[in-house]
Amino acid sequence: MYNQDEPRLNFNTCVKEQFTYLVEEINKKYDQLRQLTNDELRSTAYDLKAYIESIECIEEVKIALNEELPRAYALIKEVARRFSVGNIEVSANDYDRKIADIVDFVIIRGEKAIYKNKWSVGKLSFQWNMLHYDEQLLGGILLHYGYAVEMATGEGKTLVATLPVFLNALSHNGVHLMTANDYLSKRDYEITRPLYVFLGLTVDCIEFYKKNDDKRRLAYQADITFGTNSSFIFDYLFDHLATDSKECVQSKHNYAIIDELDSILIDDANDPYIVGGGQEYDNSQIFKDNIEYIRELSSTVNLTPLYTKDNLHHTASFTQAGVEWLRKRINDDNLFKYTKISQIENWKSLSDEEKEIINSRYNLQNALYQLLLALTVYEKDIDYVVTEENSPTIAIIDPNTGRLRKSSRWEHGLHTAIEVKEGVKTVPDYDGMGVISTKNYLRLYSKIAGMSGTILAAADELKELYELKSASLPTHKPNIRIDQPLRIFKTEKDKDTAIIETVKHVQKSGRPILVGCLTIKRAEFLTNLFRNNGIKCNLLDANNEKDESLIISKAGISNTVTVATSIAGRGTDIKPDAKALEKGGLMIIGTDLFSSVRVDQQLKGRTGRQGNPGSSIFFVSLEDSILRYLSEHDKRLLDNLAKETSEQEIISHDLSLYFKLAQKNRENYLREKRRKTARKDDIIASRRKTFYENRNALLHDPKAADKVIDSIIDTYDLSRDYIFQKLHDIYDSLSKIISGNKIVHPDIKKLQVPFSCQSIPFALTFSIRDSKTDFESVMNDYKRQLILLNYDKQWKEFVQYVLGNLDQEEIEDLDKKFYDMLTKVNQSLVNYINNTRIIFNPKQTDVPSKPLETPYFRVKSKIEVSPDRPCPCGSGKKYSECHGRNTRKKAKRRR
Ligand code: ADP
Ligand code: MG
Repeated sequence: MYNQDEPRLNFNTCVKEQFTYLVEEINKKYDQLRQLTNDELRSTAYDLKAYIESIECIEEVKIALNEELPRAYALIKEVARRFSVGNIEVSANDYDRKIADIVDFVIIRGEKAIYKNKWSVGKLSFQWNMLHYDEQLLGGILLHYGYAVEMATGEGKTLVATLPVFLNALSHNGVHLMTANDYLSKRDYEITRPLYVFLGLTVDCIEFYKKNDDKRRLAYQADITFGTNSSFIFDYLFDHLATDSKECVQSKHNYAIIDELDSILIDDANDPYIVGGGQEYDNSQIFKDNIEYIRELSSTVNLTPLYTKDNLHHTASFTQAGVEWLRKRINDDNLFKYTKISQIENWKSLSDEEKEIINSRYNLQNALYQLLLALTVYEKDIDYVVTEENSPTIAIIDPNTGRLRKSSRWEHGLHTAIEVKEGVKTVPDYDGMGVISTKNYLRLYSKIAGMSGTILAAADELKELYELKSASLPTHKPNIRIDQPLRIFKTEKDKDTAIIETVKHVQKSGRPILVGCLTIKRAEFLTNLFRNNGIKCNLLDANNEKDESLIISKAGISNTVTVATSIAGRGTDIKPDAKALEKGGLMIIGTDLFSSVRVDQQLKGRTGRQGNPGSSIFFVSLEDSILRYLSEHDKRLLDNLAKETSEQEIISHDLSLYFKLAQKNRENYLREKRRKTARKDDIIASRRKTFYENRNALLHDPKAADKVIDSIIDTYDLSRDYIFQKLHDIYDSLSKIISGNKIVHPDIKKLQVPFSCQSIPFALTFSIRDSKTDFESVMNDYKRQLILLNYDKQWKEFVQYVLGNLDQEEIEDLDKKFYDMLTKVNQSLVNYINNTRIIFNPKQTDVPSKPLETPYFRVKSKIEVSPDRPCPCGSGKKYSECHGRNTRKKAKRRR
């Protein structure tokens, strides 16, 4: 059994002793470096780089990096010092000259390169003025040794990261600096880039480039690459959907440093990452046809309710009465009899027609269920926004960061259901085609480490899921922030009145205030309320993300009130001005409790940074949504306690414990969900590895396609001449199309050609290299893509299958299913070789290909019913005693 206290103990007793001697060594080396000229300092760095580059064996590189840590860290610290003092002038080399054309911080004057100590960060001017403290050196050492390091907010983790980033980038194996959102990613890249460039390293940030931009691939080839976790993970999945090796962007997974580590490894790991692909389909009609039924059902007041809502799980389900109501309204007695094809015992013996009826009923059931969620559970400006563009779309709000998840869609038709609910144009869907959990993506790296202000609260989960050790560092200056006790009110209205009074009072004193809100809806409501009460304020939420840097740069000015969602939580650096500090620093007002204690702590952490004065206070009411997470029993006890006083404000320590309990319940539920996500992805992991290896071979090895063709010739005893003839037939037509197009469009680089196989249409893309239209190069493209097409088709089916709710038996049979899939690839390939033909349509072939934009999925919402609720089949039994029998069994066996 893992001991929860171990990480902390471990650190206090040995880690500090183990590493403080290194801090001394760094500082000794740093003192020596101070004597060097700028040119000599740079040569030291270049020599070190040349030395690490000269080592070939990976294990020896690791040893050398450990040995050279003090020298490398001293170098970075000395460069930081020189930038703090002023501009740095050095003899210009080729890299300086090249980079001077692109950046604002290097200018070339004759033989000299001048590195300025002022540059722009997020379009605002920034002047370097930081030198690593000893605590920061220690943090940097721990990051090199693979720790999850807790350093309080404001301790300068951006600066800490420069140390291990520089050291590990020396090997040219790549360092990925991963963070929770693109604002932080761009900001930290822009703040630290001059240090790395001065020392001769290349550095880039993928967040500046779109998915299909070639610059994104180049950014991955830099020694240091900044980006968000979701960009890194989605790029990985998209690389494994590529049909041409040139489309792949990632290469090595060497070392990842994860900023705001608990946000990425915990809060954002609730759901797996899924990318869609293959054929798009428009399923919206069934949602449009049925939404009125669900509108009616959800507003019908019935003696026995027609549906129930489960707030903790953010789901809803039809009750037996609801199912019967639907059966009558839709006139189908078999509705919700089954929710899974595998529940139908005689499925195989049914006729195609019967199967068709069942399939379309299954489709209808799903639409009804997703509509129920859309209408009763998912709320505008809480779960999603309707974007205010010419053609509005539904954009998901990330519940942890308060930001929009661009291009993400909810799965299983939920997104379409919400589009129909809001009356916006529906977007066609794709099936999930690649899936991976955060955990299994991070396993690809040889080493991971990270930092955050809130690690210890998550230490045992980090150990359990990621095998990460945690350590906590002391602050450089003592933290003097005052956290005032929770203020509890009976109603939300009373709470808001008290908030207004507090804001007015504090603003008068001259302090700036950050008002943290749970949702956009709430932030907008409070902004209006403040303005109506004569309080001037700025609003920061996902709808005005683009003004983020500006709003944050003003938030520390005396008297300023900033209302924000959790977007202004993690990582945000608010600098109080001199007057604000004199009056008591930034005041944080929490207007609700967040879904986890760590998120509350992150909000509080915006003040009292670096030993500054500051304070925080949270307001709650008995009407708050967080109390939905209490059990009925606890809710009753809470209400009884509240009845004891007649005041609007209730001062009771016991009562505040119930709020903490509700938060804890929510955290536990999410933790269990993450365990499930990780477990499910582990099931798929080894098969994904095999599949991706085969697939990568096809992309990168020019002979791989022929090897596959050879193997099917042997397996299926086909005639080589026959296959050759088939390929030649295709080539004859293809070469005509290609050369025809080259005459009309001399600059053409790629061409998309429509094909069909037994009336299933598909398109293949041909790169037109110089004048090469010879059989070999054209047919290499053709064979590779045809094989990939079949691979991906079968893989998609497999992924869909695994994403479904598998029972234990199905999990045990998964290997067989996987190998069946590989066999099917070959069978279907034979079919494609036999029956593929070009669809002649000169208009279509004229158009140079455009890369297809495929969506990202993050949130899954299958038909899930809690065990104690009535089974949706309408049997009247509990779900756990009917169709949900396996779920219970599964849970027991795992334990
Ligand atoms: P964190 O990520 O730990 O919350 P940041 O990296 O955002 O903290 O830094 C917080 C603030 O402290 C920034 O304004 C930064 O410039 C400042 N800072 C950090 N380290 C130092 C240092 N060694 N000397 C001076 N200022 C520092
Ligand atoms: Mg930070």
